[in-house]
Amino acid sequence: MSDDLVLYDVADNIATITLNRPEAANAQNPDLLHRLDACWTMAENDDDVKVIILNANGKHFSSGHDMRGGDSQAAKKWTVQDIYKIETRQYVGYSLHWRNVPKPSIAAVQGVCIAGGLLLAWPCDLIVAADNAKFSDPVVAMGIGGVEYHGHTWELGARLAKEILFTGRAINAEEAKAVGMVNRVVPLDDLQSATRELALEIASKHPWALRMAKRAVNQTLDIQGFTNAVQAVFDVHTLGHGHAMTECGYPVLVDLEAMKKEIASKEPAKA
Ligand code: ZN
Repeated sequence: MSDDLVLYDVADNIATITLNRPEAANAQNPDLLHRLDACWTMAENDDDVKVIILNANGKHFSSGHDMRGGDSQAAKKWTVQDIYKIETRQYVGYSLHWRNVPKPSIAAVQGVCIAGGLLLAWPCDLIVAADNAKFSDPVVAMGIGGVEYHGHTWELGARLAKEILFTGRAINAEEAKAVGMVNRVVPLDDLQSATRELALEIASKHPWALRMAKRAVNQTLDIQGFTNAVQAVFDVHTLGHGHAMTECGYPVLVDLEAMKKEIASKEPAKA
């Protein structure tokens, strides 16, 4: 696992976790996700850390899950068990872990935050968005009814959740703020400073009181069914993968033969 994929730093009682794969728009491969979860765990276990910031290097917060698995992934014979096992851990499992870390967390989002990108931003307690941020979950185009962690209905309300799923369109930062999905919209150049200022303000409060405040809100959401709904909708998500596999032998609806040809065309010619 490369520590460079996600950077970690603690200063002024604030842990800063930084996605650091800017050349790939912070697309999430398994190593990045495992390292990211390890960073959250470090922040969770460090008594000096009172607030956690999640941000991203480069133009974009995250373009989602890295679908370019290479030849081995295209050739692999997938089963529902494989997918369920992997996604239970590194998608819905990690996101629920981060949501439940008993310290306030703030995501700072710029550029695109697509599909799997939402799985990193939504679990944070607060979201500060740059004025160029765009949020979307266009996976209906791949035969799936939404990403693994169903924050949609809770974050957007039922009608907007359905609209963005049905159409695949992105919402911008102002629209996200209007429905309560983000707390603040700031100019792109001010994203880091505004997020840090907010984190410092929160870090000045008593950590136990902060923990109880977070628990009060999260427990209320759970009494309304949040965690159970996320688990149940994850099973619906897996049904989408199962359907795609019966249709094209791959976990999402793609033209598998075209994908294999594209991968083969990039391989060096055999001597
Ligand atoms: Zn999935």
